[in-house]
Amino acid sequence: MPFSELGLSAKVQAAVASAGYTEPTPIQAQAIPHVLARRDVLGIAQTGTGKTAAFTLPMLTMLEEGSARARMPRTLILEPTRELAAQVEDNFVKYGVNHKLSVALLIGGVSFGDQDAKLTRGVDVLIATPGRLLDHFERGRLLLTGVELLVIDEADRMLDMGFIPDIERICKMVPFTRQTLFFTATMPPEIQRITEQFLHNPIKIEVARQNSTATTITQRLVRSGKKDFEKRETLRGLVRGAENLKNAIIFCNRKSEVATLYKSLQKHEFSVAALHGDMDQSARTAALAAFRDGRIQLLVASDVAARGLDIPDVSHVFNYDTPHHAEDYVHRIGRTGRAGRLGTAITIVTPEDGKLVSAIEKLIGQSIEWGSDPVTEEEASEARRERRAGGGRGERSGRGGRGGEERSGRKGRGDRSESREAREPREAREPREAREPREARESRAPAPRAERPARPAEAPRARGSERPAGRQPAHEEADMSHLPQFLLRPVTYRAK
Ligand code: AMP
Repeated sequence: MPFSELGLSAKVQAAVASAGYTEPTPIQAQAIPHVLARRDVLGIAQTGTGKTAAFTLPMLTMLEEGSARARMPRTLILEPTRELAAQVEDNFVKYGVNHKLSVALLIGGVSFGDQDAKLTRGVDVLIATPGRLLDHFERGRLLLTGVELLVIDEADRMLDMGFIPDIERICKMVPFTRQTLFFTATMPPEIQRITEQFLHNPIKIEVARQNSTATTITQRLVRSGKKDFEKRETLRGLVRGAENLKNAIIFCNRKSEVATLYKSLQKHEFSVAALHGDMDQSARTAALAAFRDGRIQLLVASDVAARGLDIPDVSHVFNYDTPHHAEDYVHRIGRTGRAGRLGTAITIVTPEDGKLVSAIEKLIGQSIEWGSDPVTEEEASEARRERRAGGGRGERSGRGGRGGEERSGRKGRGDRSESREAREPREAREPREAREPREARESRAPAPRAERPARPAEAPRARGSERPAGRQPAHEEADMSHLPQFLLRPVTYRAK
């Protein structure tokens, strides 16, 4: 079915054509007509399927009618991480070139004052991480009663990150009559419950088998000693020996590991950048831009920071650590082999990782070939015996216990989206442990302007150096007649 038969407006169709897309992807073809018919949609789809355009294109069409009112966004998109939020904003820029819509991002690491000023002018599309959205709401600077359409994207990731209570709260703050579009890659029971609670008679669209991995990806396991220096040596050998390596993402389980591995690779003169949740926003944006532009060949990343990122044409994924959660494996290797291209995913496996590999193979429904001698059963049982005897896991004492060390390093305001990278098993986690008590959050003021990180808009852009025309539409003054005067006063935040 061509784009012209989906009911999209002429402006949107023109933008799609100039983006070079000729055919809608399956999720677009199935979702767009229902979104335009104002139905709730439950989309079970992973990134890489074109799901972002499946909601941005019909939203742009629908938003052509009506105008924004101050502090009352017309539509709201919730994303688990800043990068994903910024990526969705990029989609609105790309497909909204012919529109004069105001799009605002509410994410951590960006000044409250600037975000507030934008809200005051009125926004058509508000893209937010749950924590920052609630912070604005709790300051009384945002009204959600005008939201006509709510998008909850990457819902299973929100669950992993402990955001479900926030999502439930937000769903209760937007009008009951709004339209809801809900996207998730998997359907664990808690997500099922949320969809039953907050979606009204949704159209269910499933575009890929749950937890499947693309057939265009060659997957291999490679054994390594368990010590960090042994793993680093194994990785260097793999990178140097990789065939047709254009660029690669190297995943670690912990943020501290990302930092250490990054330094080591730099020392060994690889072209490398790092991406993890403790980096400030401008450093993250710069690292991503350098990797996307091909100025940097290797990106060492943690799961949360890299989840869902649309980095086209990654030739290799290396799992420096076998992921603790089998679903993370699917998401990690999904960074390569996109849109039918060939990709390679290599996982470093130590004798301690046997159980994790079995869980992955069970989830993806296939066994993964060894690209080296396999880890033998004797080695695996020896590692288990050592661990039981209290030898710990490798030279890193805390490796098995995810959480403490990682989270303790993060005390500042930030965005809660990024604070849970080293998470505990789902059942052991409290839903909002990464969140500080509300009083503490409310009493904090953002850093003084001079110290604030650059806004993503000012930081190096991922694709092309210039913001396309239409990114900051010169929109008319918003209708403010519904607001009491005190909400219209400009806000000043004092540094503590
Ligand atoms: P997403 O799943 O939203 O992260 O999209 C994955 C990639 O597919 C992005 O790079 C999009 O630009 C691209 N894409 C989206 N829709 C289409 C389409 N109809 N044809 C070709 N590529 C597309």
